[in-house]
Amino acid sequence: MQVRLIDYARAPLEKLYAAFRTCYSSESPIDIWRNIEAQKISHDKIREFIGERLKTGHASPLEQVVFWFGIANVSRSLSHQFVRHRIGISFEQQSQRYVKFKQERLAFVMPESWHRAGLDREFEELLGRTSELYARALKAGIPPEDARFVLPNAAPTNFHVMVNFAEMLHICDLRLCMRAQWEIRRMVALMRAEIKRVLPEIAVFLQPKCGENRMGYCDETLEDWKKCPLGRVRPHKTSLFELYDRYGSAKARALGEQEFRAVEEKEQI
Ligand SMILES: Cc1cc2nc3c(=O)[nH]c(=O)nc-3n(C[C@H](O)[C@H](O)[C@H](O)COP(=O)(O)OP(=O)(O)OC[C@H]3O[C@@H](n4cnc5c(N)ncnc54)[C@H](O)[C@@H]3O)c2cc1C
Repeated sequence: MQVRLIDYARAPLEKLYAAFRTCYSSESPIDIWRNIEAQKISHDKIREFIGERLKTGHASPLEQVVFWFGIANVSRSLSHQFVRHRIGISFEQQSQRYVKFKQERLAFVMPESWHRAGLDREFEELLGRTSELYARALKAGIPPEDARFVLPNAAPTNFHVMVNFAEMLHICDLRLCMRAQWEIRRMVALMRAEIKRVLPEIAVFLQPKCGENRMGYCDETLEDWKKCPLGRVRPHKTSLFELYDRYGSAKARALGEQEFRAVEEKEQI
């Protein structure tokens, strides 16, 4: 698997700053940018302001920061999962209709678990035969779009991806979590590492959802949390509720009519 950050939209921190600032300032975005360009706002101030904003639920400015990735030699099993993300991300994927795979043996992705189980040779043999049959099918005039029907989930594929920061955060929430499948987790970890290489200020927020810069706790089942290596350093939601019940000023209970009336109230006293 190879993952490369090909590019990102110019001045991402400044764009985030200006987008957030526009919402909270009497100044116009044109004046805000004038100040940024005149270096009247220090890099530290920009970083600090963004950090504070990222603690809130005001997420739409994050859509104004965009990354492009090249991703190679991942499995079709991964790609089925990856393309389920549908907001704030755009994919181009290598076609099995237009590309004839001409290598003698396709570079299938083999999970480690096949090695560990001692079944790697059988995996290789089966996929070797699959490669042969695929090549024979092409030779016999079967078009690639039909020859590909013998290709398995292990078949390799490539992506060119554009994704905005808001969606990248969401993808990390879900796919850096130990509940995610290993291959997509590894790919997203490499995407994060690529962003960290050039934009460490932004990368600190790219965490699994239990991370201190994200939701902060695990909302998966207690059984999954017990098995998770991150469970040693991040709490499960049940333990937070126990603490709230034990030490909070009130006990947590289901929302009743009284609470909905408070929500509906036109003016709070
Ligand atoms: C551990 C794990 C196990 C999974 N298992 C399965 C499985 O067994 N079967 C299966 O089919 N899928 C499975 N998935 C895929 C999962 O259901 C999602 O399709 C996938 O994670 C994409 O995430 P998303 O829906 O948040 O999409 P994104 O595009 O990343 O969406 C971003 C967010 O936008 C909002 N949004 C997007 N579209 C709409 C909409 N139409 N209406 C309202 N809000 C919207 C939602 O808040 C959404 O979270 C699994 C995912 C994970 C992480």
